[in-house]
Amino acid sequence: MIIRAILCIYSAALIVNISGLDTKNETKRDGPFKVFRILPANNEQLLHMIRLFETADSERADFWHAPSVVNQTIDVMVGPEHTDQFSLFLEKHQYPFQVAIHDLRQALIDREGDLETHAIDDSSFLRRLNDDDIGFHSRLKMGEYYSYNVLSTWMHRIAENLPGIATIVEIGTTVEGRTITGLKFGNDTPDKKVVVIDAGIHAREWAAIHTATYFIHLMINSRETDDRIGSYLDNLVIYIFPVLNPDGYEYTRTDKTNPRARMWRKSRSAAKCAFDGLSDACCMGVDLNRNFEFRFGEIGASRYPCSEIYHGPTAVSEPETKAYSQFLRSLKGRMEAYITLHSYSQLWIYSYSHRKFTYAPDIDETRRVAAKAVAELGRLYGTKYRHGTGPEIICESKKNR
Ligand SMILES: [Zn+2]
Repeated sequence: MIIRAILCIYSAALIVNISGLDTKNETKRDGPFKVFRILPANNEQLLHMIRLFETADSERADFWHAPSVVNQTIDVMVGPEHTDQFSLFLEKHQYPFQVAIHDLRQALIDREGDLETHAIDDSSFLRRLNDDDIGFHSRLKMGEYYSYNVLSTWMHRIAENLPGIATIVEIGTTVEGRTITGLKFGNDTPDKKVVVIDAGIHAREWAAIHTATYFIHLMINSRETDDRIGSYLDNLVIYIFPVLNPDGYEYTRTDKTNPRARMWRKSRSAAKCAFDGLSDACCMGVDLNRNFEFRFGEIGASRYPCSEIYHGPTAVSEPETKAYSQFLRSLKGRMEAYITLHSYSQLWIYSYSHRKFTYAPDIDETRRVAAKAVAELGRLYGTKYRHGTGPEIICESKKNR
């Protein structure tokens, strides 16, 4: 049984400029960032939003929750220079919408204030992590968002102190020179099946990174009390990569109250330019989750470097995706499950997502496992996940087109 990759979004590849969003109101630069919550009422409105999602410069409209189906909410962050035009655009096209966050910067400042009560001094924390053998593995407090440096030091300490249980895996180097690090759990013998879990390919998705960190925490701290973890270690090899895009993640931490930094999604590769209908628009970063080889650039991705879903100049053009592709290929024939964590939505998505009614050979088993996983998630905290292939659960409305 193989659980395959989750894509954040599935949508039609249409490249169209939306009028009304092409002009800047420079005088409003210091005003509030807003988050608009939009509910497309029909297919026409939905497709209009999908076109905007795939063509918009993220400075103008940054989609946090992408368009999926009719009557499902879309969340868009809009900078101060564009909020008036964006409101007018929504009114003109008669979208049902509300402003979900009126002043995002203030909301982030308020939240940062709450976090400061238990803020962590990175350097002294790192020193303690290095010096202190006792309890080092449980020292990372769940519920905190640590720097990549702390997370990778923590993983190294785990491997040094638990030989035979955990091993450091370094698969490559990012654009800015960081090592992409993960942990391998269990004794690696060629007969064992492999499970791979990753997170943080999208920089701003801190909850996903934290979930992967929590999995590591469970593996090392519950292995003696939870029989299931003991059995996983005996029978499987489990890889966990909590941050696949460390450059982007660190960038989101540079100014946690600046929406443009905190909500960065892509890598930090050098700026690339493309003519967007008005001028040459140049922007940094690639959506690494759109840069893999499979169906590159076909659907749900953008060729504009300023888009949040820019797929990069060519497939596997980025050092991060190159390293991860090579690593995954090295496991060919052994991989039993592959899970990639994203936020935010409550969806358990399995392949394939590039086209409707296109299924992997083991679709029946994949569905059975997904239904069980979703039921377990519901049993634990009452969270209601939906499961299906991308087109099944995020583009159902297209059946009616
Ligand atoms: Zn994501």
